Amino acid sequence: MVSEQSGKETAFRKQVRDWLKTNLPKGWGTPEYHAPERQTEAAQALGEKWTKTCYDAGYAGFGYPKEYGGIVRPDWEIRIIREEFTLCGTPPGPMSQGLLMAGPTILRWGQEWQKKRFLPKILNGEESWCQGFSEPDAGSDLANVRTAAVRDGDDWVVNGQKVWTSNWMFADFGLLVVKTDPAAKRHRNLSYFIFDCTSPGFSRRPLKQMSGESEFGEMFFDNVRIPHKNLLGELNMGWYVALTGLAAERSGGFAVGGRSTARRGWGNMESIVELAKETKHYGKAVWDDPLFRQRIAQFAIQGEAMRANGALQGAMARQGKKIDPNEVSVSKNFSAELRQHSDDMVMEILGAYSQMVEGSPLAVNGGDWVYGMLRWRGATIERGTSEINRNIIAEKILGLPREARGND
Ligand SMILES: Cc1cc2nc3c(=O)[nH]c(=O)nc-3n(C[C@H](O)[C@H](O)[C@H](O)COP(=O)(O)OP(=O)(O)OC[C@H]3O[C@@H](n4cnc5c(N)ncnc54)[C@H](O)[C@@H]3O)c2cc1C
Repeated sequence: MVSEQSGKETAFRKQVRDWLKTNLPKGWGTPEYHAPERQTEAAQALGEKWTKTCYDAGYAGFGYPKEYGGIVRPDWEIRIIREEFTLCGTPPGPMSQGLLMAGPTILRWGQEWQKKRFLPKILNGEESWCQGFSEPDAGSDLANVRTAAVRDGDDWVVNGQKVWTSNWMFADFGLLVVKTDPAAKRHRNLSYFIFDCTSPGFSRRPLKQMSGESEFGEMFFDNVRIPHKNLLGELNMGWYVALTGLAAERSGGFAVGGRSTARRGWGNMESIVELAKETKHYGKAVWDDPLFRQRIAQFAIQGEAMRANGALQGAMARQGKKIDPNEVSVSKNFSAELRQHSDDMVMEILGAYSQMVEGSPLAVNGGDWVYGMLRWRGATIERGTSEINRNIIAEKILGLPREARGND
């Protein structure tokens, strides 16, 4: 899957591979490796340590100017680093909301003090973030948020509730979209703040997901004071600030064929091939069944197209070229649906063993495959549902007529 273009590239790839061998947790990628349970302090600590190790070695922190902690490297090096990291399924960093959303939003809209204060610690994994957008009546229709902030001297006083907040448990800071002008028109009545999760009046609690874990939770604001200087972008223009973060978030793809995100990291097609070789249906390896092989090949091709597209967009962004923010809806849907279709095929390969979850002695690979299938059902909901992304593609890219929506 990886094409070599020059001796320089081959040598650099070896350097990255050797570094990974030395620095990955002992036993990583083997059945002997026992990762900390997901969403525990230990898992968080592993993610933080891993992010810092990669950052200190110059293998993370790309796409940001040096003065805000960014690591600058040629595109081809970044591509090779990403490929090698993906191939061995490295431990997940704890900071996806920080790297995926907070970083790009602060870089685009932040005041100088905000960029200097927050970006370096997002990049080196020292501080963790969450995103407080969704509410019980404001998911796809984000403009409908009811959590409100009222100005009081140098502060804003926030009351309300957010829901489905990923990384709710460990976040040090959050991104918050709130109503700041109830009289103004839709999309011109919201503001975007950075809030400190240790603020008095702020509380959070878990929500149980079908995967069995509580990756996301609820957040409550009871007279929480946020300093005015924490405003990101202009007052009452938070909708437009939020669009930056959403586009950045949607641009992060879902890997195909991962066994899980926590135990063995992001997976790759090779892990599906391995499973097909190890698993027998009626005494014959699944890998020898031409129909399965055809499907696996199809996923490999689609996964490779996704990877190439991601590399192209990443390179364009680093070169300062403008990317149509609506195009990320195409890659988001493509990768989320590809992930789910490949999970479905894995369940067919597992057959009756797909009923065995973590904790069962009969669960294949410790239940990681089944966990992955359950967890990534959410892939077509989080970061904007597939339907919403199709609306964006239809209206903004294909120019089809806009559907009527309330008082837009
Ligand atoms: C794993 C996971 C992690 C998440 N993490 C976060 C987070 O960290 N922070 C955060 O703020 N939110 C988070 N979310 C919430 C997520 O953004 C919302 O679930 C999502 O935007 C959909 O909103 P909703 O759940 O309210 O569904 P609704 O908006 O009520 O949608 C219900 C159904 O109606 C469809 N629908 C709605 N409107 C339209 C329309 N106009 N046209 C066609 N179909 C439509 C939707 O596609 C969906 O199928 C997370 C969700 C998941 C699953």
